[in-house]
Amino acid sequence: MFTKVRTRIAPSPTGMMHLGTARTAIYCWAVARHFDGEFLLRIEDTDQERSTAEATQAILDGMKWLNLDYDNKEVVYQMNRLERYRQVANDLLERGLAYKDYTTKEELDQLREEQKARGEKPRYDGRWRPENAVGKEIPAGVTPVIRFRNPDDGIVTWNDAVYGPISVSNTELDDLVIMRGDGIPTYNFAVVIDDFDMQISHVIRGADHINNTPRQINLYKAIGAPLPTFAHLPLIHGEDGKKLSKRRNAVSVMQYDEMGFLPETLFNYLARLGWGHGDDEMFTREQLAEWFDLSDCSRSPAQFNMKKLLWLNHEY
Ligand code: GLU
Repeated sequence: MFTKVRTRIAPSPTGMMHLGTARTAIYCWAVARHFDGEFLLRIEDTDQERSTAEATQAILDGMKWLNLDYDNKEVVYQMNRLERYRQVANDLLERGLAYKDYTTKEELDQLREEQKARGEKPRYDGRWRPENAVGKEIPAGVTPVIRFRNPDDGIVTWNDAVYGPISVSNTELDDLVIMRGDGIPTYNFAVVIDDFDMQISHVIRGADHINNTPRQINLYKAIGAPLPTFAHLPLIHGEDGKKLSKRRNAVSVMQYDEMGFLPETLFNYLARLGWGHGDDEMFTREQLAEWFDLSDCSRSPAQFNMKKLLWLNHEY
């Protein structure tokens, strides 16, 4: 099991550092400091088409500006760990827990159309599971992906530190692609191996990942890794009640630096978005670390209010 509390922030460098990422990082930092644990930074750069060096720099700048001190001296980059993912994928293949899938894109599109026409949810049908592929010819020129063999039945459950108990039936989950044809792992696979290798005890992230968690739990079990505590945070909405967006809102952390905000103000304000400690509007980082408790986080979306942030900036 876990000998220490370890949290991590694992942004994908595909754009600026978003306020939502910053708030998650603050909560991860607070949990680690509260329990005298460690807070780690990992850059999830496997989406090669969308990842950029500028976005990585924006994350590093944002972390520094907000004074989010992480404990790993060397930042972990997923693209430096490809060998490790391949090794685990091969191990799963050898153990019969994963298999190669030669379905072409056209066949997948056709399957999806047929399922939709029948009013079904699009879902991979396991056609290359070894028992279904007996005697099937491997098509020439198709580079296979590797799929995890998701258990057929049973229920996946976890006790979310924010949302409470959540259960998902395995019949809802299909066989997940873990390695793409180009040998690059998918998010769900890499994240599990990394969190296991980095001994992350608390996986804290946006509620948009709730659907990924049962799939990841099945992977943890397959590789024999202890399950961390999962905590999902409701998204941040703008004053219009809609999800914060680049078009309508200033969502990049460094924009607040350019606008003249103090990092302490943004830190303080974000910490309060979806978490509270009595009526305290302003507190120090040390107080946050002392008071913070994931179970006090709200389950409904927080609302970002620029006037309030301006007021707070004035008070500092
Ligand atoms: N790279 C993922 C993201 O930026 C990380 C999700 C996670 O924390 O597991 O959304």
